[in-house]
Amino acid sequence: MADCSYHPGKDAVGACVSCGKMVCVACKTELQDKVYCPACANKLFVRRDDVPVAAASDAAPAVKPVSGAWWLLVILPLLFGGWCWIGGIIAWAVNKDKDPKKAKSMLIWGIVLSVIYLIIAVIFIALIVTGFLILEMPQ
Ligand SMILES: [Zn+2]
Ligand SMILES: [Zn+2]
Repeated sequence: MADCSYHPGKDAVGACVSCGKMVCVACKTELQDKVYCPACANKLFVRRDDVPVAAASDAAPAVKPVSGAWWLLVILPLLFGGWCWIGGIIAWAVNKDKDPKKAKSMLIWGIVLSVIYLIIAVIFIALIVTGFLILEMPQ
């Protein structure tokens, strides 16, 4: 029986499938029924460690903090003519690289608030016009 390549004098129990070096019980690493020497096992583990880190950074890009003050840009226009969608677009354009999710929800809320404002304004104007028409109607 051949000696272990890493421990002269110790009986080898197998050969590394990657480099062919003989390994003993102490330094044998079995991965999916294949025998590896310590050096090749290390290389495999390093490669395995690299993959999830790279995949994770691809899947979820680092989200940078976005100030909650941007919401004011979306909500405040309600007091000045209802141009929330413009505030929403500005907040989205500035923050889309930092936090795409938050930027998108600012844009959506800007549009939603503008639509709500428009509906309320139309109802309000309609009520006033109706009121005038009733008052002006010839008795
Ligand atoms: Zn090996
Ligand atoms: Zn050994």
